[in-house]
Amino acid sequence: MTLESLSFTPALSPDTSTKHQTFIIFYYSNILITKDDEMPSFIFNEMPEQIASSKYSKQHLGKLNNSNCDIIGLLEKPSEIEKTEFVPIRALFNKLPQEQLLLAGRANQIINWAVSHRFCGRCAHKTQNKEHELALICNNCGITYYPTISPAVIVAVVKDGKILLGHSKRFKGQFYSVLAGFLEIGETFEECVAREVKEEAGIKVKNIKYFGSQPWPFPNSMMVGFTAEWAGGEIALHDEELDDANWYAPEEMPNTPGTFSIAGQLIEWFRETYS
Ligand SMILES: [Zn+2]
Repeated sequence: MTLESLSFTPALSPDTSTKHQTFIIFYYSNILITKDDEMPSFIFNEMPEQIASSKYSKQHLGKLNNSNCDIIGLLEKPSEIEKTEFVPIRALFNKLPQEQLLLAGRANQIINWAVSHRFCGRCAHKTQNKEHELALICNNCGITYYPTISPAVIVAVVKDGKILLGHSKRFKGQFYSVLAGFLEIGETFEECVAREVKEEAGIKVKNIKYFGSQPWPFPNSMMVGFTAEWAGGEIALHDEELDDANWYAPEEMPNTPGTFSIAGQLIEWFRETYS
């Protein structure tokens, strides 16, 4: 199904007023898409036969246009399906409009959580969908499993009208971005910002201020953005994350992420504020 326009309402159970059904299909974090189309589609009106006869887990995603949309998470690798292929969700980054990408990301996040919590980690019994909320419950020992969301901070640090940008060892090519890192247990977001910047770049920061947030479902992060000011220290790369970091003025910026991501929005904020 090609989506001309997309209207989506999350729901825990199907809307009985429509008989239309759609599917989004995953094998682990790989999504099934149509091959050879100019813009790939990942919404299927029918479940391919090979999928229907495989072992899978199912979750309801919500109402997508006029259809009830289910997410299928295969538990075994299916045989080849004509005109389709499984691709990592990141392969769709520049091929789909943002709202479709976020829908695919949301589906990915829900089904991967459900597939990896089919059994209770505490007593090993099968879990069930909980009524009235998106959660899985173990009826044997009573534990509830909520969807996994991993919070991470991302921060624009400014010193004398210049922004701190780093090159991660994970980035391909000459691509620089603001610093980011996952929250640790027991930490506030502000403490996490201060620790990450110190660990990754050897810099102390002050005036840490909330900027905004962005769900980043690849696979399950929640990016919480901050701005901060340099408070001391010279750039020193301490850990395994970065292989380069520098201060950049607005007119001498390297390649940076687009404003689709909160990283790009923080960099844009810096440009506008300090140009
Ligand atoms: Zn249990």
